[in-house]
Amino acid sequence: MKSLLKGKVAVVTGGTRGIGYAIVKKYLEAGAITILCGSREETAKKALEKIKAEMPDAQVDAIWPKLSDRAEMTAALNTIKEKYGRLDILANNAGISQNNSLFDYKDEDFDKILDINIKALYSCTRAAAEIMKDNGGGVIINTSSIVSYNGQGAGCGYPTSKFAVNGLTKSLSRELGKYGIRVNAVAPGVTRTDMLAVLPDEMIQPIIRNIPLGRLGEPEDVANAFVFLASDMASYISGAILPVAGAVVI
Ligand code: NAD
Repeated sequence: MKSLLKGKVAVVTGGTRGIGYAIVKKYLEAGAITILCGSREETAKKALEKIKAEMPDAQVDAIWPKLSDRAEMTAALNTIKEKYGRLDILANNAGISQNNSLFDYKDEDFDKILDINIKALYSCTRAAAEIMKDNGGGVIINTSSIVSYNGQGAGCGYPTSKFAVNGLTKSLSRELGKYGIRVNAVAPGVTRTDMLAVLPDEMIQPIIRNIPLGRLGEPEDVANAFVFLASDMASYISGAILPVAGAVVI
């Protein structure tokens, strides 16, 4: 694990907490120079300081561009390339979820979820792929969800966005293969992060009973898949949607 990503430069969106924070730590442990993206300067700098305190020798940095703004993303990633000489890995992890019923949906909520879960993914991927194409290759890993298989019973915007993540992943894996760029997605099941903290225990327990491995996912379970897919061990894997969900029955 220690040297799986040695010499690589990685960018992780939504790296300030939850699954993204775990990916940042695992990438650093695996030897990559890792840049975390936060939504705001304050939270990005706070996460950066926390990581530096936990891992004093790690080569870690932070940025906070607007992910769905392609011009801003292009400028931010070009700055990373100039500063660190390359860009090898993009982990598109930032995302939000919604649970409201169709009749309670505000149009702006639907727009918001598509903006961060899909448009940002497109902008970040486009900006990174321009650099990777010129560098002779790279790896892009998107965060899908287990709800991208059969949807969910409320909050239709969220599974809609994750079905689109799978579509973008599979399409771009075919389009970018000729440049040596691999594109995959990880589809987490219910994972113990702030996204879950809003749910009461009486909702969590039936979820756990439906998981054959008998427990919720931890952010580290998902982050391990991001390490594997980013590494040369996955050098012939592209276009995959990898479930990390304890064999959940959906
Ligand atoms: P989280 O809420 O703990 O973290 C989300 C991250 O995304 C944060 O770092 C946040 O700053 C960032 N983010 C949110 N909106 C942003 C914006 N507008 N601009 C920039 N960054 C923004 O959630 P998490 O559980 O760690 O989720 C991470 C990813 O995993 C998401 O894509 C989510 O859909 C996916 N996922 C989570 C679960 C789960 O059960 N937790 C299950 C399946 C998929």
